[in-house]
Amino acid sequence: MFELKEQIAPILKEMAETTPENFVMMEVCGTHTMNIAKLGLRTLLPKRIKIISGPGCPVCVTSSKDIKTAIEIAKLPDTIVATFGDMLRVPSDGDSLQNYKNVKVIYSPMEALALAKANGDKEVVLLGIGFETTAPLTAAVIKEAKKMDLKNFSVLCMHKTVPQALELIMQSKNIKINGFLLPGHVCTITGSDHFNFISKFNFCGVVAGFEALNIISSVNELVKRFVESKYGVFNNYRPVVTEAGNLVAQAMVKDVYEEVDSFWRGIGLIKSSGLKLRDAYSKYDAQKRFDLKVEDVKDPNNCRCGDILKGEALPTDCIYYGKECTPSNPVGPCMVSTEGTCAAFYKYVEE
Ligand code: SF4
Repeated sequence: MFELKEQIAPILKEMAETTPENFVMMEVCGTHTMNIAKLGLRTLLPKRIKIISGPGCPVCVTSSKDIKTAIEIAKLPDTIVATFGDMLRVPSDGDSLQNYKNVKVIYSPMEALALAKANGDKEVVLLGIGFETTAPLTAAVIKEAKKMDLKNFSVLCMHKTVPQALELIMQSKNIKINGFLLPGHVCTITGSDHFNFISKFNFCGVVAGFEALNIISSVNELVKRFVESKYGVFNNYRPVVTEAGNLVAQAMVKDVYEEVDSFWRGIGLIKSSGLKLRDAYSKYDAQKRFDLKVEDVKDPNNCRCGDILKGEALPTDCIYYGKECTPSNPVGPCMVSTEGTCAAFYKYVEE
């Protein structure tokens, strides 16, 4: 611990000297949201640095309509819905997946295949949630299902991709940020070069890892690059992240999915920001298999999740925060998810 303090001290000193007034940094990764809160980094960094969260929590950005679709599938007889635990309590239209006994929590998408094999008389539906990090895992499962010629398995594909959301944020007139802490996990798959496009918008980004020292040095690098107008991406998470990323995972994603317009909570429809199964895999597409027509769902009144995901509000700006809305009684997804900004604030940060 003492060693860490010694390593951090000169970086903080440099930051104190170089950070301009009102420097606003956005992180776009649920693990960064949680770790920055948990490690108390907001109190360590110079007061001039404001850290806001963007659309980095996969459960939070999933639209209420998509969650409602998953719930409608769970209501069908002889169906098992397999999902990560984070999705269970996300409310949609006064309901949630936790109300259905046939919803099974899994820890790896491959478990959904085992469920399908063991329950041949039932339809098993895997909820495909997450960004570039988890999309290859779902893709691997779909390819395996095809190899096994599983007839009772499908995926409700709700995967999204990060760059398109960042592009929208960089062009927004309502959000004033000076740079991005880029998501280390996502970049492991995509490679850091994948985010080079931010230089076209005169933005700086630093690919960051998740330990205190790495996050702090990444913020410092971001400040320096902003001050020197060095636009583009700096990779501060080597060797975990390379310029090119994981080519095997990228090939798998390309093989299984094609881009589709996708609806993000709080942001709305973003062109080409979602993934859907290609025709070659369409028999594993739960949307097609069940052909459910789900109406749009209104988000909870006054819940500011949408604004928080756009970086336009903090949890403490929400009238429900810490009162009607707590982790044990969540009103919106940002309080449900372990990667949600409201949950992170409630657990670790501000009043
Ligand atoms: Fe939504 Fe609750 Fe966060 Fe308010 S505190 S924005 S209601 S999740």
